[in-house]
Amino acid sequence: MKVLKFGGTSVGSAENINKVLDILKLESPSTQTVVVVSAIGGITNKLIRASQKACDGKASYEDDFIEISSIHHKVVEELFLKEKDSDTIKKLVNAKLNELKQLLDGIFLINEISPKTSDKLLSFGELLSSTIIYHTLLSRSFNAEFKNAQELIITDDNFTNANVDFELTNLNIDLCFKRNKADITVLPGFIAKSVHKESTTLGRGGSDYSAAILAAALNATQLQIWTDVSGMYTTNPKLVKQAKPIKELSYQEAIELSHFGAKVLYPPTVLPVLQKEISLAIKNTFEPKALGTTITHNSANDGLPVKGISNIDRIALMTLQGNGMVGVPGFSKRLFETLAQEKINIILITQSSSEHSICFGIKDEDADQAQTAIDGAFEYEIALNKLEPIIVETDLSIIALIGDKMKNHQGISGRMFSTLGKNNVNIRAIAQGASERNISAVIAKADVKKALNSLHETFFEVKTKQINLFITGVGNVGERLLNQIKQQHSYVKKHLKLNLRVVGLSNSRTMLIDDDGIKLEDWKTQLDQGQRASLQGFLDYATQLNLRNSVFIDITANSEVAQIYPDYLRQSISVIACNKIACSGKLQYYKSLKALSLKYNAAFLFETNVGAGLPVIDTLNHLITSGDRINEIQAVLSGSLNFVFNNFNATTAFHDVVKQAKEEGYTEPDPRIDLSGVDVARKILILARESGYELELEDVSLENFLTKNAMDASSVEDFFKTLIEDEGHYQALYHSAVNHNAQLKFVAEFKNGKAKVGLREIAKGHPFYNLEGKDNIVMFYTELYPEQPMIIKGAGAGADVTASGLFADIIRIANN
Ligand code: ADP
Ligand code: ASP
Ligand code: MG
Repeated sequence: MKVLKFGGTSVGSAENINKVLDILKLESPSTQTVVVVSAIGGITNKLIRASQKACDGKASYEDDFIEISSIHHKVVEELFLKEKDSDTIKKLVNAKLNELKQLLDGIFLINEISPKTSDKLLSFGELLSSTIIYHTLLSRSFNAEFKNAQELIITDDNFTNANVDFELTNLNIDLCFKRNKADITVLPGFIAKSVHKESTTLGRGGSDYSAAILAAALNATQLQIWTDVSGMYTTNPKLVKQAKPIKELSYQEAIELSHFGAKVLYPPTVLPVLQKEISLAIKNTFEPKALGTTITHNSANDGLPVKGISNIDRIALMTLQGNGMVGVPGFSKRLFETLAQEKINIILITQSSSEHSICFGIKDEDADQAQTAIDGAFEYEIALNKLEPIIVETDLSIIALIGDKMKNHQGISGRMFSTLGKNNVNIRAIAQGASERNISAVIAKADVKKALNSLHETFFEVKTKQINLFITGVGNVGERLLNQIKQQHSYVKKHLKLNLRVVGLSNSRTMLIDDDGIKLEDWKTQLDQGQRASLQGFLDYATQLNLRNSVFIDITANSEVAQIYPDYLRQSISVIACNKIACSGKLQYYKSLKALSLKYNAAFLFETNVGAGLPVIDTLNHLITSGDRINEIQAVLSGSLNFVFNNFNATTAFHDVVKQAKEEGYTEPDPRIDLSGVDVARKILILARESGYELELEDVSLENFLTKNAMDASSVEDFFKTLIEDEGHYQALYHSAVNHNAQLKFVAEFKNGKAKVGLREIAKGHPFYNLEGKDNIVMFYTELYPEQPMIIKGAGAGADVTASGLFADIIRIANN
């Protein structure tokens, strides 16, 4: 004998019921089959809503009733369209609906609904669905019987969550099936009767349990739970897209997963089948060929210590603490007895080893009642200040890792908590069952999706890690970066196991957010049609989405953007700055960003601030972490100044060269920002700071080679005029260099704790002498490289190389 249970969605429409019949056609011929059905999907909730309205005196409960009726009528109409004798079923359904209406009218009249009435009312859902399905089977010539489970499953009168009297129940089932030899017997799930013949229910989701009770009593060969997903998943598939069905589970694992929130299986379901060692399968009505999950005595030998991750929402955490608890036996006993008397279920307990506090998790809805009861029970101790009144925190969730083999594997909790920590998920309490079959943590409800996704990634998708990028500033460099991300996406996924997704894009006018990742093929059009840009709005989105491994990338030169980094870091969102303002601004600000990055475990990288894509800062950091010390830095760090001095000679006018540099985009709109050396000063300042020296920009001595005339010019146009007037000054600089057999280079230097920048005559043979085009060069003299410096040289300007520097920062963060 087999027991098959079909859930709400499976019997949710005529189309779905036909799928159920197809399954029965395949399953039932081999053996006698018991079919347990839920109410049509959503009906139980609608019944509750209607009754609450009726109880509150709201006449609109009638609308809910009409909706409930028409759902059932529609299903009957569609199932019995071609049947001549559909009158019987229509009459039966209408009779039940009339009875239901009378009950609702009664509740409306007296404005009251007791748990007893509620159970009576909810029984209509399953009674209606099972009647409809039974008659459909008859009309399609199945050899079927109907049995009202209320005549078999007997409970106490703990309405809404009744406890089964197994002795009576098993006897009833046994007797009933001794006589009944039909191929298929249809029964309503979820509902039962008390010894006093009142309708009771087995708790929300209880049809699974009804089926298990029948399977155990009948010594069935298998219990099949047919639902709308292909088995028990590695985690809630509604919250984690990458979740996958688990092929095999042990009974214990299934108990833990369902107890900790895997709604696909009602927690009490496993026990009856476990005791009889009946195998339990979870299958998908809409994909009957999918393997589903098989639950037996043995956990699968697939080597995975963690089998699933589940979550329970709406948790309240209660903490009882005080010095009066230390060393005094019986406190916990009194506490838990108090809760038991109130029939409050405890989901998780932790006690600190100092015995100074006990902390436990219960359902949010029980929190008020628990608080009153406990403060009452410990009134005396609280009055004497031996205990504090109980502390209640709500809006929390529990997440749990589950697996039989976890106890044999070291370091699972370490990986769990470091994954959560890296993603800034604050853990309020931790509990590990003595069986070590589960580790659970209490976290904020708002963090659940992120926590499940990142834990799922750690334990099940070791192969790919998702990186979520929020990019602001999509000019020249930004555009190249997006191109690189698009081009390299599959390579990075395949070889580095990273899934790079651009979730947010913004320029100064519009912004665009897409939780599923922006399609990079036509980002420009999408961004043009995006909403109005706002720095705060962009941050708010990134915060609310609360995605794991989020990275904010600033490709602007805007000081307001540079001011918002702390807000990202505080959300544990890493920051990549192409913008130099933050790192070359006030020392205090730079230091505070570094501190926030440490505190919130979020990277703060800015490789492109110096030498564009050249790995200057990364190399410097590696030297320092390896214990080295930077003594001196010599560098040529300005692409624009190199361009100017590489092209300026006796046959060209300084004015024309600067003009050309400006026109070709090598300088800022006001070329003085480059020519005055301020930009280079900022770069050497950043290198000095990264080397561990505390300097402000004012401490960098800046030797200006421009004339006073040039600096004083009130407009860019006037500035260019001064270049013509002062050509002699610039030619003199050139000729002096030529006379000394040298080249003019704008050099940045850091030595003996002092930084300076200025134009130098570089003699032949010096590493700077042959520097071409836009190339940059940096030489680090360190303890390990005292005479022969560590040299980094290469293209130090240009949109493509800068974008690849940003790309490298992204990969650094992702690989961390
Ligand atoms: P039924 O009406 O068939 O009893 P339920 O709604 O009670 O179905 O349970 C199935 C649902 O459980 C799935 O649609 C899914 O959203 C949810 N669910 C939560 N956690 C899990 C999990 N770990 N595996 C599978 N489903 C889960
Ligand atoms: N119909 C009931 C509920 O929605 C029982 C079940 O579907 O298992 O809770
Ligand atoms: Mg269910």
